[in-house]
Amino acid sequence: MDTMKKRVAIVGAGPSGLAACKHALAKGFRPVVFESGKAVGGVWNRTLASTRLQTPASAYRFSDFPWPASAASAEGLFPRHDEVVEYLSAYARRFGVLERVRFGCKVLGASYVGATEQEVAAWERWSGNGEAFGDGTGEWHLTVRHGDGEPEGGGTQTYRFDFLILCVGRYGVAKLPRFPDGRGPEAFRGRVLHSMEYSAMAHADAAELVRGKLVAVVGAGKSAMDIVAQCAEANGSRYPCTMVYRSAHWMVDPKVARRVKFFTFTSARWTELMVHKPGEGFLLSLLATTLTPLRWLISKLAEVYYKRSIPMQKHGMVPDCSFSQGSLGWRLGILPEGFYDRVDDGSVELRRCRGTIAFCADGLVLDGGAVVGADVVILSTGFHIDQPLRDVLASPWFGDMIVAADDGSAAVLPLYRHCVHPRVPQMAVVGYAESGSSIYPYEMMAKWVAHLLDGAVRLPAVRDMERGVAEWARWGRWARRACGGFFLKSCIASVTTWYHDQLCRDMGHRPRRKAGLLAECLQPYGPTDYAGIQ
Ligand SMILES: Cc1cc2nc3c(=O)[nH]c(=O)nc-3n(C[C@H](O)[C@H](O)[C@H](O)COP(=O)(O)OP(=O)(O)OC[C@H]3O[C@@H](n4cnc5c(N)ncnc54)[C@H](O)[C@@H]3O)c2cc1C
Repeated sequence: MDTMKKRVAIVGAGPSGLAACKHALAKGFRPVVFESGKAVGGVWNRTLASTRLQTPASAYRFSDFPWPASAASAEGLFPRHDEVVEYLSAYARRFGVLERVRFGCKVLGASYVGATEQEVAAWERWSGNGEAFGDGTGEWHLTVRHGDGEPEGGGTQTYRFDFLILCVGRYGVAKLPRFPDGRGPEAFRGRVLHSMEYSAMAHADAAELVRGKLVAVVGAGKSAMDIVAQCAEANGSRYPCTMVYRSAHWMVDPKVARRVKFFTFTSARWTELMVHKPGEGFLLSLLATTLTPLRWLISKLAEVYYKRSIPMQKHGMVPDCSFSQGSLGWRLGILPEGFYDRVDDGSVELRRCRGTIAFCADGLVLDGGAVVGADVVILSTGFHIDQPLRDVLASPWFGDMIVAADDGSAAVLPLYRHCVHPRVPQMAVVGYAESGSSIYPYEMMAKWVAHLLDGAVRLPAVRDMERGVAEWARWGRWARRACGGFFLKSCIASVTTWYHDQLCRDMGHRPRRKAGLLAECLQPYGPTDYAGIQ
């Protein structure tokens, strides 16, 4: 195949788009990366001033590109957001990715032009013949707006590509809660904004917005806590910041996180034995069931330890779910430094709301009664994680197949190997499934897609791909039940190594990457284990 002649488009220049481009380049392709922003790095370009990695630097890295010594020191175990951007930019420069990126180019829609929907539905092989580029007659038409974000705007142009890789991320579309009629933000005299909008502000403007004001933050996730800590630091107890939340997450103190290397536990094979895995055989399933009491015991020990080291009981912040459920569904994070000290000194107030949250002129009304006075309300209420994908896929047929048109109740996006839909030709997604450290699983997906492009990965028949998707869907339903409903969609954190084994086998590489059986069973897996796969 003449790789130079095949036109490959990548949408997004965050960590996954950079990895997808680097590995397509390595296979001889000359991809074009469309990025609506002005810089590489994705979400890391629009964070709070205080945002740091929650994952240790040793795990949040590409397999063949170490952090500079300054950022990966013990002090900087969790590098700052600007260090992450610099790391990603250096990667893009080092591997020739930067010159492939067209900044300020927003992809408004992608349409497949070739076989009809009926023909595609009848195919027994992906893309008609099982090849990445099909028989060469189908292509993707991308409508791109230039000068995105510029005051004068730019023109729109359509480009044609043989293969499309979507790396649009999950955190680009804000999710707002529903409020009772007439008691939404319109009833409030102050300012209301989503955490995404607040994070995207210049840091000086964000600090100015909250200075000397009563701020209420709705939510209890990592972003909510970071915003609350930031407001408390700016205003002290004179203007306390109120955190309004429904249920607490397992938030671990950074000092404790440094001592107890949580990531070490989740990425070792012995811990994977304690959970069910997609497509596991009878013996592994039996073993996972047999080891359930051990998993329960470890979870209880972790709970006791964290409750003793963090005053969550005193402040009513013990999560409703167990620690094991929180780690399976990824409802955990790292507590901002000194968070509960600020609760003790009165600069943070914690208010639990089990029913409705509504607005009144002076702030928020909780459970139809108590009023939380506020000048600014920041809604840290999550994201429509499927929307960035849906927005790009102009064909509703493809959009509906990938992102179910219903209430979004699927626990796992229906992608084979979390990358390609069995019935959507010549297109891959990199960076949707989430893990404890998202960057090196994204790099593995990028490698797998690059191997698919150059023909080294051979896809099975569509029916077998659908069977693979169904195995993950079944596993997702189990995981969601096991988490008591708190499951982050397509969260593969508890089975990341199992997933990587599947990708390794497809690419013709050994899944067992450690030296010796003992190391294989006990040592955690991490990015460098996969450096040899190019
Ligand atoms: C505040 C915050 C903290 C996080 N901390 C961690 C952490 O500690 N550890 C961890 O593992 N993960 C963390 N994550 C998850 C994080 O999303 C991933 O680590 C990683 O950034 C995802 O990379 P991505 O390239 O897939 O998506 P993104 O980083 O979201 O990048 C997507 C890119 O696509 C572009 N784009 C989207 N749509 C279009 C379009 N239509 N046209 C053109 N361009 C488009 C966007 O502008 C963006 O640049 C965090 C996320 C957030 C929001």
